[in-house]
Amino acid sequence: MDKKLITVTSPLLPNLDDFHAELQKIWDSKWITNNGDYHKKLEAALAEYLKVPYVSLFTNGTLPLLTALQALRVTGEVITTPYSFVATTHSIWWNGCKPVFVDIDPTTGNIDPNKIEAAITPRTTAIMPVHVYGKPCDTKAIQEIADKYGLKVIYDAAHAFGVEVNGESILNAGDMSTLSFHATKVYNTIEGGALIMHDEKTKKRIDYLKNFGFAGETEVVGPGINSKMDEMRSAYGLLNLKQVDAAIEARHQVAIKYREALRNVEGITFFDDMPGVRHNYSYFPIFIDAQKYGMTRDELYAKMKSQNVLGRRYFYPLISEFSTYRGLESADPTNLPNAHKMADSVICLPMHHALSDEDIQRTLDCILK
Ligand SMILES: *Cc1c(COP(=O)(O)O)cnc(C)c1O
Repeated sequence: MDKKLITVTSPLLPNLDDFHAELQKIWDSKWITNNGDYHKKLEAALAEYLKVPYVSLFTNGTLPLLTALQALRVTGEVITTPYSFVATTHSIWWNGCKPVFVDIDPTTGNIDPNKIEAAITPRTTAIMPVHVYGKPCDTKAIQEIADKYGLKVIYDAAHAFGVEVNGESILNAGDMSTLSFHATKVYNTIEGGALIMHDEKTKKRIDYLKNFGFAGETEVVGPGINSKMDEMRSAYGLLNLKQVDAAIEARHQVAIKYREALRNVEGITFFDDMPGVRHNYSYFPIFIDAQKYGMTRDELYAKMKSQNVLGRRYFYPLISEFSTYRGLESADPTNLPNAHKMADSVICLPMHHALSDEDIQRTLDCILK
């Protein structure tokens, strides 16, 4: 008999009876979308939980990227990382801007601030870094460059829910940050997302833009879009927020076990916690040095799969390798050696709140034996 399938992630789900009770209230009220009570409550609860001044909810994590670039009137060229989920670069393209790829720092997987200045041209107007795997970017170095050249900074913080540096939210960095609440993320609203901003004026403008640009019954203040979150998913999100700390702690325990077992395995490396950082353990990437480990990344990936343990080569291929983008000058592999090395050696191990010790052991057995 086949062994139970161990998936790379598993959604955090609210208790169904609790969710049903909330749905009953929504049915009674007959208010199912358009800034209802649950929507307002979830924005307030998230602002408090995340330690940020303003949250604007969205239907997914891609539309806040698109909307942030619109709201900040970003044009021309946008500097970004190839080591991310493809939506990061797509949002730049959908705004009619040109993505410019900069290599990553091999010690973090995030855009290397030391390589940003060389990529700036007179057409550059913004930087879009990603806190990959929820590991904080060097936000101070990035802000210094942005200030020097007058650039906007929009963080794709899709992986960074709840991440703090020295007690402060990473989401307060830059001009705006975006979150994804997709089913596969640490915190989910099935599909969903948010934009984090630092002042009331921007919050108001974003709220107009996500509702077609309406600033009242008869006034439209800009070419808006429709990306409003509905009441059902807001209610679901409120329930999930109550259990997200426990889920993050469960992930932490998985990370501890993986690290203990893999610490001295020749040819396998992974990230340790960073000092002063509250991590969310959203992913557990390992990196395989084929020569030292005696097996290539793809061979190990296939071996895991044959044992019904699903890892993910996340992020492989690089965004710069997709046909849509590989014609760009900055997509040349010689410009992105560290990103290529990481993409070619990574496997994200199963990581979620409900992994059992047996699941963890079966995953480790694939790697250790
Ligand atoms: C998940 C993700 C997105 C997109 O979020 P959706 O909610 O799926 O639209 C964007 N950027 C990164 C880095 C992601 O991981």
